[in-house]
This record gives sequence, structure tokens and C-alpha cells, in this order.
Amino acid sequence: MDKLQKFREFIREGGLKSTRQRDDIATWFFEVKGHLSANEIYRQVKAVNPSIGFSTVYRTMKLLCEAGFVQERHFGAAEALYENVSQHHDHCICTSCGKIIEFGDEQIERLQQSVAERFGFDLRSHKMELYGICSNCREGVR
Ligand SMILES: [Zn+2]
Ligand SMILES: [Zn+2]
Repeated sequence: MDKLQKFREFIREGGLKSTRQRDDIATWFFEVKGHLSANEIYRQVKAVNPSIGFSTVYRTMKLLCEAGFVQERHFGAAEALYENVSQHHDHCICTSCGKIIEFGDEQIERLQQSVAERFGFDLRSHKMELYGICSNCREGVR
């Protein structure tokens, strides 16, 4: 079963009807790489189906999160960003231009594990977010 079918099933189980708009948003977003705000998604999805409104985008993204296909990120004070659930990764965020770099570091993962163990924690998840100024923005400052 593909993701869209699974999502439709999730919607049905929640007592909602699947709609063309919701399907279009989900289908479009499943192909997206990276991190987009509801506003950006709305702007781009409108080109696919002009009858889609912002609140439908917003609610559909929440449903996609609840269904486990999409993850909502909150980087600093910025508005929520959505990304497709993929292999675990962490983020570097530029506080000047908003650029986001994804990374995975085995050493950091292991260290977090050992910190959790030190405090008797059974680690279930974590968010590692590094904030700074990216190399492009630093060049602009010089
Ligand atoms: Zn930057
Ligand atoms: Zn990411």
C-alpha cells in the first residue's frame, strides 16, 4: 500500500472523508525534500489545485503529522516547518537567513545515549538543533 492510500485509511479511521484537496496536498508534499512552512506549501500547492485554501493546507499538514508521515519542526521562534519523515537526522539552522543543513553524526548519537543512561533515562527521541551563522551570511558581514 502506498503512502497516499495509508493516509486515506488514517483519515477514514478518524471519521473524516478523504477529499480531492487533501489528496492533492499529501501527494504533492510526499515528493518535497526539505522543510517548508504552511504558507510556502499553500503557495505552491495552489498551482496544483487552485481550489485549495490555506486552512485546508494547515489542517492536512496536522493530519499528516498525526498519521506519522510528516514531522513538524520548530526552529527557534520561526513558524512551524514541515518535512517528510525520513531517516533520523539533526539540523544546523542559520539565524540570519534561515538556511537549514541536515546532518547525522554517530558520535553525537552515542554521546546522547550515554548522557541519557547516566541519568537513568531510557532514551526515546531527541532533537539536536545547532544555531549559528552560515558561511554565506558570514561572507556578507565581512
Ligand atoms: Zn545564512
Ligand atoms: Zn530535516
